[in-house]
Amino acid sequence: MAGLPTRVAAETLTGGCACGSARWRVKAGTAMAALVACQCRQCNQMSSHLLAATSVAETGLTWTREETLTWFESSDFAERGFCRACGCNISWRLSDPDARETVALMAGSFDDQSGLRLERHIFVDYKPGYYAITDGLPQFPDSD
Ligand SMILES: [Zn+2]
Ligand SMILES: [Zn+2]
Repeated sequence: MAGLPTRVAAETLTGGCACGSARWRVKAGTAMAALVACQCRQCNQMSSHLLAATSVAETGLTWTREETLTWFESSDFAERGFCRACGCNISWRLSDPDARETVALMAGSFDDQSGLRLERHIFVDYKPGYYAITDGLPQFPDSD
C-alpha cells in the first residue's frame, strides 16, 4: 500500500446515491487524496464514460445508510460499491479489509462538489478512442 494521502478534509463531507438509500459521511480532518479521472475500461463500462473519484482514509468514513449498498467483486483484488435501487456508482475499495487503508468515493456522490477539483487522469492507455483529453491536466498511462 502507498500509505495514506497527505491532504485532509477541511470539514465534514457527506454524499450518497440518487435515491438516498446509500449514504456516506467523512469526518473533518480525514486524510483525503486528489480527485482523479479514471480512463480504464471498467470505469468506462460502468459509468458509460469515465469516473472521477477521490480516496479517503477508511477510519474517517461512515456508511450512514447502507440498506441498498451492494459490493460488486470487480476484480480479484477490488470491489465496487453501488446502490442496487438506483444504480449509482458510489465507491471502490480493496476487497481485503486488512490490506486497505483508503476507500475511493466517486465525485458524483458528493452532496457538495464545490471543494473538488480534478487533478489528473489515470489509466489513459485504456481510454476509448471516441474522445480526446483536452483539459491539459497530467496524464498517467496506468495508476498514478
Ligand atoms: Zn440509490
Ligand atoms: Zn477505472
